[in-house]
Order: sequence, then C-alpha cells, then structure tokens
Amino acid sequence: MQGIKNYKFWFCTGSQDLYGEECLKNVAEHSQKIVEAFNASGKLPFEVVWKPTLIDQASIRKTFNEANNDKECAGVITWMHTFSPAKMWIIGLQEYKKPLCHLHTQFNEEIPYDTIDMDFMNENQSAHGDREYGHIVSRMGIERKIIVGHWAGEKVQKTLASWMRTAIGIMESSHIRVVRVADNMRNVAVTEGDKVEAQIKFGWEIDAYPVNEIVEYVDAVSKGEVDALVDEYYSKYEILLEGRDAAEFKKHVEVQAGIELGFEKFLTEKNYHAIVTHFGDLGGLKQLPGLAIQRLMEKGYGFGGEGDWKTAAMVRLMKIMASNTTNAKGTSFMEDYTYNFVPGKEGILQAHMLEVCPTVAEGPISIKCQPLSMGDREDPARLVFTSKTGPAIATSLVDLGNRFRLIINAVDCKKCEKPMPKLPVATAFWTPQPSLEVGAEAWILAGGAHHTAFSYDLTVEQMEEWAAAMGIESVVIDNNTNIRDFKNVLRWNSIAFK
Ligand code: MN
Repeated sequence: MQGIKNYKFWFCTGSQDLYGEECLKNVAEHSQKIVEAFNASGKLPFEVVWKPTLIDQASIRKTFNEANNDKECAGVITWMHTFSPAKMWIIGLQEYKKPLCHLHTQFNEEIPYDTIDMDFMNENQSAHGDREYGHIVSRMGIERKIIVGHWAGEKVQKTLASWMRTAIGIMESSHIRVVRVADNMRNVAVTEGDKVEAQIKFGWEIDAYPVNEIVEYVDAVSKGEVDALVDEYYSKYEILLEGRDAAEFKKHVEVQAGIELGFEKFLTEKNYHAIVTHFGDLGGLKQLPGLAIQRLMEKGYGFGGEGDWKTAAMVRLMKIMASNTTNAKGTSFMEDYTYNFVPGKEGILQAHMLEVCPTVAEGPISIKCQPLSMGDREDPARLVFTSKTGPAIATSLVDLGNRFRLIINAVDCKKCEKPMPKLPVATAFWTPQPSLEVGAEAWILAGGAHHTAFSYDLTVEQMEEWAAAMGIESVVIDNNTNIRDFKNVLRWNSIAFK
C-alpha cells in the first residue's frame, strides 16, 4: 500500500509516589511484561512501546506532548496500575491530540486468595484507579476506546488490534488528498457535499484539475511502457475476446495501460491518494478509465465514480485502515445496482459501470472489452470477476446540509446463485443485515447513497469509532436494527448533532 508509515503505539502506566519505591518497581516491571507479551503475541498490527510510569502532572504532560510530536506515534494506551489521582492528568489530556485507548486491565488474572494483603491490594487496584482516571476523561468529553479484561486474553488483544486500525484511520485521515478530474455528475444530489467542512472535520484536501491536465500525463506514456504493462495484464488475467478480433481487442487494452501509467504518475507526482472521474467529462481520454482505475484501487488509491469525492476519500481511508491485514479479503468502491427479491434468496447485486477493486475478487479475473451504455467514447477494457463470501461492511458518508452522517451497514456476502455470462462487469452480491427488507428501509431512511466504500477486513465498531473521533454522527444497520428504534435514533441524532 502506497504511503503508510511505520506507526507505533505508546504504553503509559499511571501511578503515584504514595506507595514507595518497591511498589513502583513492581508497577514498571508489570507494565514491561505486558508490553513484551503484546509484541510477542503476533496479534497486534503495530508495535507497542513501553514508557516509564507516570506519577505526577509534569511527567504526564511531558509524555503526552512527546507523543504529539513523535511522527511515528499513532496513539497512547493508558492504564492505571495503582491509584493515580486524576487531576494530575488534566493538563496532559488537554494538550494531547492523538487517539487514546484506556486499557482497563490488571496484572494478575486471579485474586491470590491465600496470600492477599493490603500491600497487594494497594499495588493492584486498577479497578479503583481506572475509575478515577476514567472519570476525568469522561468529564473532559474526550473520545477514547475503553478495553476491559485481562491483558493476556485473546479477546483483549484482538480488540486492541482492532482499535489500532481505527487509530491509524484517525491519524491518516488528516492528510488524505483527493483529486477531482471532473465535477460531480449533473443533477445528482447524494454525491455532492461541502468540501470545506470535509477538510475541517476529516482533514481531506479535495482539489480539482481540468481533465486534460491528467490526459497530458497519459499521452506522455511511452509505447515501451504500455507494451510492458499489457504483457503483465496478458500474463495475469484471462483474455475474453468474445468474438472480437484479437489485435483490435489488444488496442483497447493498451489504452487502459496508458491511463493506468499516466494517472499513477500524476497522482504520485502531485501526492494524491484518491481520484474521481466522470464518464461524461473525459476530455482527451479515449475510454472511461476502467481496468486502469481497478488496478490503481488495488494499489491502494481511493476512487469514486461520477465525481463522488466523499466515497473516493472513504475508500482510501478504509484501505489504509485495513492495510497489511493477514489474509485480507479486500476493500473497494461499490454501488447498489439490482435486487433479487426471491424469498429466501434476497440480496443486492453490487457492481459499477467498471470500477470495482480486484482485491475483493475470488477466482479468475478476466479482461473484457464491451461498449459502455453511457458516454461517447470507445469500448473500455475492464477486469471482470465475482467477489468473496462472508461478513463485510458497506459505508456511505452523506452530507445532510448541516452535518455529515456516516451510515454503516453490516452485510453478508454470498455467491450469486448462477453465473451471469452477459454481464461485463465485476460484481459482488450481499444481503444487508438484518434482512434486505429492514436493511434497505433503514439505509434509505438514513439517506444512504447508492455508492459505498466496502470492506471485508474492517468492522462496524472500527468505523463507528472513527466517526466518533471525527466528531460526526454515525448510524449502524446490523442484526440489532429494527425500524422503530432506528427512526428514534435518527430523531435523537438530529438534535444531538445540530
Ligand atoms: Mn455510480
């Protein structure tokens, strides 16, 4: 994945000097052991760095400010091993700007019934100290993740791993740069939005260029470069001529290779991480970028169709959050297209005109060349495949005029019942939770778009926590959703997020 840092997380243990040197020595030893176990677990996507025990206001303030200034630090994990009077934490927390996790754990798993005395109780009182600390974080209204349980347990480590990815999303959101080489499609509402507010809330820079400036980069790609990339395509993908002349077919593929190389050069040179196009505004491009955009998404770029910069930024964001996932199943731009309403087989066929990311593919990937039903260009080459099965999430970020809302739907991806030999696009098929009927009604009530940023590798909780950190509303549609309660959530949120 292009452009991701070697992030680390700091582990900061809170205490005070009331219990003497012996106690503080044990506290430091215990927290070191926890950090070593985390790093040896193989479960965390990023390294945890141990920091000396924080025992007073000055050391707390200094550590939080060092965390702010450390380019590799993506967040601080805090834990009150003993009691740590929380007024000492106020100024440090006030000045701290990065993601915060409160690990509510304890060194020993079990109460040592035979030996426990008051010294032990004073040394091991996170049940006490973490409440004092938690109180001040709540009083100050600071977003944080609270994880409860014994540190050696698999569940705690998995939750910490999941939160680390949310934290990366929070850190990386602030410098996502989206290039628009076309405006939003005329008359379309849901892909519009307030770009200034998006920069204030999420940090996204959304810039426009005349499409022909990027076309210059495409035209400047040499024949040798195009030929080499086309060779790669032909060795990697199946070629489905479907009656077309092989040489003519290859010419169409060459156009996409030129677009991939030219666009990538433009994006790299100008430091953009996501791009939007529009089939109705292609300037000097011979084809709508299809295969080219699919390959760029595979490399980690965000994309949105018809000028949809919000979804392009979300696809980039979610690709970063999911990056380096073991056995990753993929993250893509997607669009709700066609329903299957047959009882027991309900679902939504997902696709786009062309641009679905091959990271979600299962089975062979083919190149097809077919006319586009819209626009006035030559038949674009595209990658065609079907997608993986299993749980996933679909998200839609909408602008309601006075605020952003993130809609998060847990979905169950399935194989299509039958092949669709005449459909020349990549597809996925899913049933939204809790059912097509309730899921689609809730989605429409919430104002969710037809475009989504979709991932098999992220969870509802991660996206909820990211939205909370951005200070925006999020609503979840999953197996716990019923319409009556969902309407109330929307009603209450309209007051809470005014
Ligand atoms: Mn679309």
